[in-house]
Amino acid sequence: MGISPAKRDLASPDNWALAKGGVYFSKSQKMNRSELGRADLHVHTLASDGIRSPEECVRLANELELDVLAITDHDRVLGALIALEEAEKMGYSVSVVPGTEITTCQGHLLALYVKEEIPSMYSLIETVGEIHCRGGLAIAPHVGLGLSPVSISAKTIARLYQKGEKLDGIEVQNPHYWRRHLEQARLLSLYYGISPVAGSDDHFGNFGREVQTLFLGKTAADLRTSIEQGTTLAVRSDLPLRKISVNERIFQLTRGLTDDVPRKAKRSHIFVSNLLRPEELKDKIQS
Ligand SMILES: [Zn+2]
Ligand SMILES: [Zn+2]
Repeated sequence: MGISPAKRDLASPDNWALAKGGVYFSKSQKMNRSELGRADLHVHTLASDGIRSPEECVRLANELELDVLAITDHDRVLGALIALEEAEKMGYSVSVVPGTEITTCQGHLLALYVKEEIPSMYSLIETVGEIHCRGGLAIAPHVGLGLSPVSISAKTIARLYQKGEKLDGIEVQNPHYWRRHLEQARLLSLYYGISPVAGSDDHFGNFGREVQTLFLGKTAADLRTSIEQGTTLAVRSDLPLRKISVNERIFQLTRGLTDDVPRKAKRSHIFVSNLLRPEELKDKIQS
């Protein structure tokens, strides 16, 4: 398999251990962790089944001094567009990466650096192709976690590569992973040379507190280059978590159960952005 030496070096368990100690190593570089950018690449807002508004998410990310926050609501980009606008308006130092978590026939798939909706319920290979056509990056989240078809399996990734398509990143840190998922994701990252990233898959405003993607640079553009060059690192962050009330949990659960966009959009080419405009969503959130 064509893994570049740099990627093999960065993804190796030895370097993960070193990263935990606060130092980032590759054969050619040695940097303090504080010099690296910090990002969370998988966050849900009130625009899908999260409980915090996009504006609130950006404010919290800024307070946490994250460098980059990717907003990835289920099958829609609305939350990300609002967050982008808010970060600019408020002059926050955090950069927002617009994205979405697409429901494919083989499991969820993150699309980063996209501002348009990408149809759900297509095959993984078709969806990865579509993301690349639109200039985005395709990241496999929570690989092998939960029941099919929520998560892409290792076998599906193998089939994707057999057919000549490629992923840009894979979550090798996700707070929902068990040890075996972590090991499987690390092996896939190594074997196929897929950049290792971390995503909290947060719905409550605790993003960036459990896991973080470290990258060379500080901006959204730097993060993209780092993912493309395989110089990202996924680490646990162990910051104190915000307490989530029972009411918040019930609210999130209700939103998750009533969020039926994938079914509505199923092969019908109805793009969600046509259904709700940012101003309409803002009204909905404020009312
Ligand atoms: Zn998911
Ligand atoms: Zn998610």
